Amino acid sequence: QNIQVAIDGPASAGKSTVAKLVAKRFNYVYCDTGAMYRAITLKAMHNNVDLTDEATIVKMLKQTQISFTPGNPVQHVFVDDTEVTEAIRQPEITNSVSTVASLAGVRKELVNRQREIANQSNIVMDGRDIGTAVLPQAPVKIYLIASVSERAERRYKENIQKGINTPLAQLKKEIEIRDQKDSTRKVSPLTKAQDAVEVDTTSMSIDQVVDEITKIINQ
Ligand code: C5P
Repeated sequence: QNIQVAIDGPASAGKSTVAKLVAKRFNYVYCDTGAMYRAITLKAMHNNVDLTDEATIVKMLKQTQISFTPGNPVQHVFVDDTEVTEAIRQPEITNSVSTVASLAGVRKELVNRQREIANQSNIVMDGRDIGTAVLPQAPVKIYLIASVSERAERRYKENIQKGINTPLAQLKKEIEIRDQKDSTRKVSPLTKAQDAVEVDTTSMSIDQVVDEITKIINQ
């Protein structure tokens, strides 16, 4: 049985940054499930599909390959043969992805793919429902949280580095809206698994969070 580390939590809590470093430390594969929801959202928007049209999006998804290749500092994401690493991080995608992620048929298909990936090697997988729905048997489950002000500030700094200058107050609002959508959807809403360890990263450095998770894995 492969070792599975599930990392869940609200938007911009630092999951992917930390998950990547933990994976590196243990030499496990890292899987960013949010990127998969973002990828199908991007394709649907490119094709002008109504984002609530479940049948069309599920059909499109079944014919879509979503793949990752290693890279530093970010892994590369491909939809079919097109690289979408940066495109899936654009604000339009960020603000629409929760709508697509609430479609039951989309989740069913992506959860199947995520389980297949997790079966292939030791893995650190981050998302919203990894500990509760994708890998409920995972021996290590982490629930990462941080205050909304802290998360908005982290997103703000990341954006500035990418040349995007969205006001802090707007980012805070967007994060709150996305969390609200992710926590209230009917299928696998964002919640902490009963056996997950909650780590509040509000006043922790990235290294401190990685050390804390390392301790939990080694227990
Ligand atoms: O983690 P990230 O912010 O990239 O995720 C983007 C969106 O994808 C989330 O806001 C959520 O709507 C959806 N998602 C999900 N389940 C996951 C991972 C992401 O619903 N396991």
